This record gives sequence, structure tokens and C-alpha cells, in this order.
Amino acid sequence: MTQLITETQIIDDKDLDYDVIVIGAGISGLYQLYKLRELGLRVKVLEAGTGVGGTWYWNRYPGARFDSESYSYGYSFSDELLKEWDWHEHFASQPEILKYLQYVSEKFDLEKDIQFSSRVKSTIFNDDQRIWTTTLENGDFFISRFLISAVGILSEPTLPKVDGIESFKGRSFHTSRWPHEPIDLNDKKIAVIGTGASGVQTIQEVCKVAGNLTVFQRRPNWCAPLHNGTIPKDEMEEIRSSYKNIFQRCWDTVGGFLHTMDSRGTFEVSEKEREDFWEHLYQSRGFGIWQGNFKDMLIDPEANKLMSEFVANKIRSRVSNPKTAEKLIPKDHGFGTRRVPLETHYFESYNRDNVELIDLTETPILSITADGLKTTDREFEFDIIIYATGFNAITGSFDKIDIEGMNGLKLKNQWEKDLETFLGLQVSNFPNMFMVLGPHALLGNNPRSIEYNVEWITETINYMRNNSYTRAEATAEAVQTWADYVAEQGEHLLSNKVDSWMTGINTNVEGKNKRILARYSGTAQSYRKRCDEVAQSGYKELNLS
Ligand code: NAP
Repeated sequence: MTQLITETQIIDDKDLDYDVIVIGAGISGLYQLYKLRELGLRVKVLEAGTGVGGTWYWNRYPGARFDSESYSYGYSFSDELLKEWDWHEHFASQPEILKYLQYVSEKFDLEKDIQFSSRVKSTIFNDDQRIWTTTLENGDFFISRFLISAVGILSEPTLPKVDGIESFKGRSFHTSRWPHEPIDLNDKKIAVIGTGASGVQTIQEVCKVAGNLTVFQRRPNWCAPLHNGTIPKDEMEEIRSSYKNIFQRCWDTVGGFLHTMDSRGTFEVSEKEREDFWEHLYQSRGFGIWQGNFKDMLIDPEANKLMSEFVANKIRSRVSNPKTAEKLIPKDHGFGTRRVPLETHYFESYNRDNVELIDLTETPILSITADGLKTTDREFEFDIIIYATGFNAITGSFDKIDIEGMNGLKLKNQWEKDLETFLGLQVSNFPNMFMVLGPHALLGNNPRSIEYNVEWITETINYMRNNSYTRAEATAEAVQTWADYVAEQGEHLLSNKVDSWMTGINTNVEGKNKRILARYSGTAQSYRKRCDEVAQSGYKELNLS
């Protein structure tokens, strides 16, 4: 580690600790390290956890697994890796995914440039010297020309804002901070708070072993069947031989998934055709029902209403108690306007004698107690409380770090005023900082977006080095143009008119109560076209010097 440098001239590359500091060793950070190494750069990845994997390192809750087909979610960049790795389930479980990422890390010898147990506390840009100084919680610091955040969009967990959380005498976990050692859930009295994608996966698994399970639901989500299955060896060989087509398909679809919107409108077909199509989607694997539905389902309220009614009837047919069924049917938003949790016998969980559903809109939680939980009409005793209460999404993991750019400006303050970026990759006033999956970058099937982001950032840094540039900052005009484009692309989507983490809402976080466009919601094609144009034009939208 270099001593703090005090001169006011541009620091020479050779005096830097590293060319690039990357924060995070998840899917983004690992690939970013791999690509920058190809350029011969000196890179250090700082990771808070004790191992690689990011999301798949932290989220070890029972039942955690992919909602996208495993073979569409892995890295596509290495033929060798694709040849060597076998997926065992269409939607792999967290242990298999973590093993995969560990395998990748080992295969490409990535760990030698990753420093674990190293949570970044702050990072400050010095414009005279054109360096970032990144400091860890233990006080160690590193100077680098570039800073790349690979911190993920859902990595800062949030707990409910209720009294007494600390007073609970049993064990309690947030789903994304599940302990590494096995937790004995057998015959225990268990509470799950929250019914998003994490809650749904947890509930359907935990109910099988719990003595009794009480689910505390504020708002239900529209869930649809996952239809997981194992992948026998011969099928894996077929998949392997189709990788080229699989990744091409992901490249061609609007969200990077294997599924894409049907070219027909809901009202362009007969009622029978419509019902048959929806039935087919409901019986099919994965996100087809969300991402592969009629083209107007996520835009036209009338089309969405019909689809919602179809799924509501499915829920009614699967849950024995009609009152419980009605509670599990969302009434405040339409199907697909929030992230659709994919499930396996989730609704049937509520037919079990050991499972009870508490509707928090009727009886809100008053407090967590030493023995359990108190709502407005009852006291509950629990051995274990599981918080499936979500994340301070998209900006939360940035906010956790004290990021200071030009003239003492804090990123958190800048984004509180206006959440604006350039392509989700850069922020004005924060030169030489790049983001993988920053706000207003392409989401969807995230590894596909990550690979694209990482390659764009790597090419940009390569271009800068080849042209002896040491500073890059998105121009104010470029940021404004991108903000306008994001707004225009998001205008028609019903999902942007609904409260969710995708619209920046989190009732457990101060100030996150106003709906914003927290993500880019146009197509992958238009996102990549814009990014490619910027690169091809010699990065005119970046001030390079
Ligand atoms: P989430 O979707 O934000 O869900 C959080 C849940 O907790 C919601 O049901 C919310 O209720 C509830 N909640 C929050 N605060 C509460 C409070 N104070 N009192 C009572 N209930 C409260 O979070 P998540 O389930 O962790 O999922 C987040 C995202 O992670 C997903 O949308 C998905 O993108 C990703 N994910 C992916 C996978 C996968 O790929 N397999 C699995 C899990 C998660 P309200 O709805 O009323 O706010």
C-alpha cells in the first residue's frame, strides 16, 4: 500500500497501487477482473465476504435458486468453461451456483487478485492527481486511476422499521445474511416476514420441515410456477451443443432472457386462443409467462387485467381455503408489474396444517418481542424469525460507501436530488468511476447485461490508455440526454406506475417513499445500440483528457 500522496500533479501510473480497484467479487467483479487482466492492468478486487459469488455468496436461505434457466445465466465468454461445466437443474440451487462461481474463480486463477473480508468504507477522487483513494473499514487504503463498482443492485438488506428487533431471544436472519453453518429448522416455530421472490422461495421450502410456519404478508405478489427439473447427462450434452443458439437467443430478446414478448396483442386473438396460450405459459418453464406473454400485457391495463384474472383463478384453484386464496391474490397491481416470483408448490404450502398466513394490512406488526412478534390482535411465539424484507435496491450498496467525487460532492447527496447516470455506467462529477449495473443500466437477465457492461468498460479503459488519457467524465449534456431517454422508454410500462424496488420504493429506508425511475426499462437492443454508438464515435459524450 502506497503512502498518501500529497503533490498536486497527475500521478504517474507507476506510482499507483493499482490501475483499477474493483469493489465486489460477484458475477460482475469476477468478469471485470478477468477482462482487465487481459489488458495487462494491475487490478485489485475488494470484497466484503470471505469468498467469491456476491449475491450467490450472501443469499444462502433455504430454497434459494435461479429463476432464469441455468444455462442462460452462466458466463458465455469462455468456450472451455461451457465445455467443462455441467448444470444439474434447469434452475440451479444456490449451492450449485456458488460452486460454479468458485469453479470459475479457480479456473481463471482470479483469487490471487481478490482481497476478501475487506469492506470498503470510503473512496475519494482527487482531481489534481486523477486518482481514487479507496479506504477499507480497517483503515487500509489503495490508490488507483480507476474505480469500478461491481456491488450489485440487490445487496444492501433492509429490516422492517419496527421496535424490538434486538430484543428477540430466538434466532433471526435476513434471507440475504443467512448463516454459513446449517440451521436446524426441524419442528421449529418459524416466522417469515415478506412475500417477495426471496420470501416465496423460503416459505415453500421451510414449510416442509417447520413445526409450524407463520407467514406475515403485507402485499402479495403475482407468482407463477417455475417447473424446475433435473438435467440428465444427455440433455446437458444437448444444451452444451446449443450454447451458441442459447446465447444468441438471449442477445436477441428484449431482456436477455430465453423468453421474449409474443408478437400478438391480447385482443388480436380469440378468447379460446388467449386462454390456451396462457394455459401453455402457465404450464411452461421459467419466465415465459412474464417475459413471453402477449406484447401488450405489460403496457395495456385492459390486457393486463385479463391476464391477472387468469392467474388469480389459478391461485383460487390451488389454495383450498377461499379466504386465504383471496389474501394471496394481489389487488393493488397487475400481473407482471412487479418482479414475478417463480414458485414450486408455493400456493399449496398454505393448504398444509402447519402453515398460517397473517395479512398485515388487517393486523399490522406492532413490535418484535423477546419471544416472538406482536400484531394488533395477537402475540406469537417463535424459535426463528426470517426477514425476507428485501433490499435498499440499486442505490443502497452505493450509499453504504462514502463516495466523494469532484469538489467534495458526495454521490449519495447527488443521487438524492436526481438519480442520473450516463448509460448506467458513469456519473458526472465522479470521473474515472465506472459502474457495472449502475442505476439506469440494462437489467433483465443480469449476467447477460453484466457481460455487456464489463466489456464496454474494459474497451473504454483500453481506449483511454491507448490514447494516453487519464481522466474520463460523462458530460452534463450526455447525462441529461440519457435521463430523458430513460424517462421516455419507461413512460408506457405499467410497472413504472407501481410501488416496488424497481421504482425506488422501500418503506424501511428514510426518503425512499417517492416513486422514481430507478432502472432503465427500454429494450436490450436500444441500450446496446446507444452504448455502441458512444464507443464508435470515440467517446464524444465523455470528457476525456
Ligand atoms: P422484495 O421483493 O423487495 O420483497 C420484500 C418483501 O418484504 C415484500 O413482500 C414486502 O412487502 C415485505 N416487507 C418489507 N418491509 C416490510 C415490513 N416493514 N413489514 C412487512 N413486510 C415488509 O425483496 P426480495 O424478495 O428479497 O426480492 C428482491 C429481488 O431480488 C427480487 O425482486 C428479484 O429481483 C431478486 N431475487 C431473485 C431471486 C432469483 O433469481 N431466484 C430470488 C430472490 C430474489 P411489500 O410488498 O408490501 O413492500
